Amino acid sequence: MTNINFCNVRLPLYNEEKFYRLSIRDGEWTLIEQQEAHAAGLQGSTKLEAWTPEMHGGVDGVPTIDLEGRMMLPGLVDAHMHLDKSFSLTTVENQSGTLEEAVRNYSQAAPTFSKEEIKARIIRSALQALSFGTTHIRTHLDFNLKHSRDVAIRTVEAALEAKEALAPYISLQLFPMCPLNFRSLDTEAIHEALRMGVDGIGGAPHLSETPQADIDWIFNLAEKYDVPIDLHCDETDNPAMKTALYVAQRTIQTGYQGRVAVDHLCALASMTDAEASSVIESMAEAKLKAVSLPAVNLYLQGRHDSFPVRRGVTRLKQIWEAGIPIAVASDNIHDPFHPFGRGDLLQIALIGSYAAHMGRPADLRTLLRMITEAPAKVLGLPQYGIQEGVPASFVILDGTTVEELFTLLPDRRWVYNQGRFVRTPGSKAEWRHEALTHYWQASAEQVSFTKKAAVKG
Ligand SMILES: [Zn+2]
Repeated sequence: MTNINFCNVRLPLYNEEKFYRLSIRDGEWTLIEQQEAHAAGLQGSTKLEAWTPEMHGGVDGVPTIDLEGRMMLPGLVDAHMHLDKSFSLTTVENQSGTLEEAVRNYSQAAPTFSKEEIKARIIRSALQALSFGTTHIRTHLDFNLKHSRDVAIRTVEAALEAKEALAPYISLQLFPMCPLNFRSLDTEAIHEALRMGVDGIGGAPHLSETPQADIDWIFNLAEKYDVPIDLHCDETDNPAMKTALYVAQRTIQTGYQGRVAVDHLCALASMTDAEASSVIESMAEAKLKAVSLPAVNLYLQGRHDSFPVRRGVTRLKQIWEAGIPIAVASDNIHDPFHPFGRGDLLQIALIGSYAAHMGRPADLRTLLRMITEAPAKVLGLPQYGIQEGVPASFVILDGTTVEELFTLLPDRRWVYNQGRFVRTPGSKAEWRHEALTHYWQASAEQVSFTKKAAVKG
């Protein structure tokens, strides 16, 4: 465990005009204190640039690092990724750029992926997210029962192994997705996945032929195994699609308030104000949590429109103002659903700012909460934030104002989690820990941007 003191820290989620003094002992925050003023050249302090994790010294052998006004956020939380699919675009294409083709082509390719390949993709993309400051991820998992029980369970096994390997560095929550029209398949494998120790249950009922019956089934299953629910919800431009309303209703009926998340909610962007307001009101009443995936929605939605073309991103501001914790998250990275992305939540917050017209100073500060505190609520993290008595997990960003963060998306980031720095930039080894270097190299062998034989739908 690395014990550290910091001075001259800016905490944009508190009061960014002030400087703070912070202390970590045994991996836990023990002091968060506002300074009178900027303390230049504090005796015994080391500037961040000059500091390396091997350095000791300072009072009682604990170094004091001078951040010189740089910004610190709690470890970023990515509430919605598909780590198992990331970097699969080299083998699974999407010529039309539609959600339908992405689903179809990926489903066809699923049996061709080995467990090792899936595991490598999860590790690679999780470590990449970690390098940008993400310390907690909820990832949805492909669960392709249409092919066979083995194809579906293989992804769960790969994900459980990756989760364990990554545990000293980054925390994963695993949510297998009940496949389309799954009730016509042998559902025993879904029970099996839950018994194997996944963290919750997901799905995309709006794509099913029987959305309400699917939602009922998922709620029964969640109750049986006492796990939370996280659904892809109304990821469509069709304003008549309102499974969010039914999810809200079932949540109240089952007493599942606070344990259900609805993600995407693109249909809300196509509805009239009156229709959307009534859905949002029901969501708030049921204490649903929400996740928006602005990059992927901008990419996949509106594909069936001629101009004017809808852009699919949900009503971020309105949902936030209704008191619903709404996160912005990455979704897919370099796969048939989304050819770009790098697992950087600051980049996603910037895309959210464009997509939802959130560029005022107050909006940018809200967006920072949408990649920290709000997704921490979605994941149900019991102890989160830069607060005394809470495990220390944070990212230092090389910028001194929030505006600078959004304008420059600084690449230089220092990430601390689970008792030590897990990434420091510019050092001889970018990944300071042997195990991380090992996983990074092993996964890099599996990840390529060169096109392989594509599986077509
Ligand atoms: Zn998704």
